[in-house]
Order: sequence, then structure tokens, then C-alpha cells
Amino acid sequence: MTPAERFAAKVTAGPVPANLDTPCQLWPETSLDRDGYGRFWAEGRVVPAHRYAYEQHRGPIPAGLELDHLCTVRRCVAADHLDAVDHRTNVLRSNGPSAVNARRTECVNGHDLTDPANVHVAYPPSHPRGMRKCRTCARNRARRTREPQLAPAAPLPTRTTAERTAA
Ligand SMILES: [Zn+2]
Ligand SMILES: [Zn+2]
Repeated sequence: MTPAERFAAKVTAGPVPANLDTPCQLWPETSLDRDGYGRFWAEGRVVPAHRYAYEQHRGPIPAGLELDHLCTVRRCVAADHLDAVDHRTNVLRSNGPSAVNARRTECVNGHDLTDPANVHVAYPPSHPRGMRKCRTCARNRARRTREPQLAPAAPLPTRTTAERTAA
């Protein structure tokens, strides 16, 4: 059995997504990785099944690009449901929290997040792909915490040596 035959034997046709003309080709739920993408054994190693399908039918995936599922079904391996896009496009197109956040045009306090000068991208461990932070809010926060320290310190009561000795 060739790899292509093994591959074809694993796939079953699914529904036709509303935005496409052809059915999804579903990889078995029993051989998915922890993100829900199909895993296929080919040429001595495990490869993502949808990447394998894309390369078989449409050729090599250009360097630096990743595959976006137009049908949003991660275990779908239909080559025509896959689009090679850059990472940013892929994230923006998806409906994950980072994509929803990326589409927001204002921060919680109503500052403009479409103005690059107001946006700072941070990479905390919880958001390895980066999250947008509002600079105006950050400035305001910094000012609030700094102000008490900048206020002149109340003068310490000065007592004369005589008073201290008397006390
Ligand atoms: Zn699909
Ligand atoms: Zn803000």
C-alpha cells in the first residue's frame, strides 16, 4: 500500500461547509494530535495530515507560511479547504481569543487600538503569540502608582535636642 493509499483509506467525507463547495475530508478522531489536527505516518515520521494532503495535491507549502483551514475543521484534510497564509493572517482569520482580541478597535477604556503608536505587543507566557496592550492605559497606571511617591514627603517633626532629652 502506498502512503497515498494509506492516507485515502483513513479519510471519510464530512458535510459541505457553508462557505465552500466541497465536503470536508475528515481524519479519524482516533489519530489526532492534542490540538485536533490529524497525524499521519509518512517517510519514517509523523506529519500533520492536512499538511501532507496539501503537499500531495498542491505542492510544497511556501517557507514561512502555515495552512489555514477555510472550513475551520481542524481534522479536515481536503486540500481545497486549505489556504497557505502567513501566521498573522492565520491568527486573525481564526476565531480564537487572540483573533477576537486582535479585531477589537478599542481597549476596555475606549482608547484607540487601531493607532500603532498606542499599541504595544507583549509576549507573556500565557500569550506566546503576542497580545496587544494599550499604551495610554499603561501610562495612566504608571502615573497612578508613581504619584504618591512623587508627592513631597511630609516633613518629619523636628525636635530640638532639648525636647528629645526631655521626652
Ligand atoms: Zn474542510
Ligand atoms: Zn486604554
